[in-house]
Amino acid sequence: LNDAKHLSQPSVLDGAAFRSAVQHWYLKNGRDLPWRRTRDPYAILVSEFMLQQTQVAAVVPYYHRWLQRFPTFASLALAGESDVLHAWEGLGYYNRARSLHAAAKAVVRDHGGILPNDPDTIRALPGIGRYTANAVVTFAFDAAVPIVEANTGRLLSRLTNMREPIDTIGGREALWRAARALVPQKHAGTYNSALTDLGALICGRVPKCNICPVRRSCRAPDPQNLPRKRARATRVTLTENHSFIYADQRVLLERANDRWRGMWILPRLKTTRQSERPVHTSAFPFTHHRITLAVYIRRSVPHPRVECRWFTASEIETIPMPSPHRRALTQCVETVAASHSTSRNAVGIRVALRPRLRSE
Ligand code: SF4
Repeated sequence: LNDAKHLSQPSVLDGAAFRSAVQHWYLKNGRDLPWRRTRDPYAILVSEFMLQQTQVAAVVPYYHRWLQRFPTFASLALAGESDVLHAWEGLGYYNRARSLHAAAKAVVRDHGGILPNDPDTIRALPGIGRYTANAVVTFAFDAAVPIVEANTGRLLSRLTNMREPIDTIGGREALWRAARALVPQKHAGTYNSALTDLGALICGRVPKCNICPVRRSCRAPDPQNLPRKRARATRVTLTENHSFIYADQRVLLERANDRWRGMWILPRLKTTRQSERPVHTSAFPFTHHRITLAVYIRRSVPHPRVECRWFTASEIETIPMPSPHRRALTQCVETVAASHSTSRNAVGIRVALRPRLRSE
């Protein structure tokens, strides 16, 4: 079969046999995830925001803590941005938290605090696309709508032997068509959960075709080569220099206004001396960048015009700080306290930060 033929009919499967095999498999093998034990649209929406770009295992503790702190749309809508970002701290991609916060405000303002069960209305809320809107209505209201995310997309691309890259407009639409053609009218929520788990547990990066319950429906002759994707942009490496400034058992921090808008970071440094060595270096990914964070000890504010504030250790516990900066700060305090054992400033901060060090 040539590529054109596959593109023109990506979803021609024996739907009934496929659905039956998927759902039968799910009864025995489905994952017991906390957001599957509820039909509360708010809790499901929270889980969907958190699961974007984050692994299930990492999300679970955040999901529980978030629902304790903000149990309803109303409680989240009333929260300040700083509290919301602090609760999200460690999950990264903070625009998700800002969008979820804005969506909660819109649900309270426009829908009386109750999420509508119509995917188009949900999709009009901040930060919500086709997948998230459909996921919420199918998992909360059992609506017969398709979902396509990483797991189901990979699975569907192999089932239909899709040769077009799935990250093009045409490829994405072909996946949605395939998903729509297969979704059942009844028990769609369970079916969609089953499809997700089949993609996650069986049809993963290395497909386990020998134990796959739908192998008879599968058209991929070379599943390990699917899905196809466009060539990736090369990863850009960057170094970002920041300063560690402390005095009187307090640390100076700067309020970020770009990538981590609304969060507190170590103050930025425009220049460093050539011979100078940083007190801390670490690396972290950000979109298609690999960023090296280098921190230098300084005595004064590097850019007086930006918003900077002094914080005690206990205050630092309560403010939102991106994880790379919180880790860097903790290590800077340890390093300085260890190298100047008589420095009361650094030792005082270190003692106060100890609970945080133990918990990480
Ligand atoms: S047979 Fe293999 S490639 Fe096809 S759906 Fe199953 S695990 Fe995926």
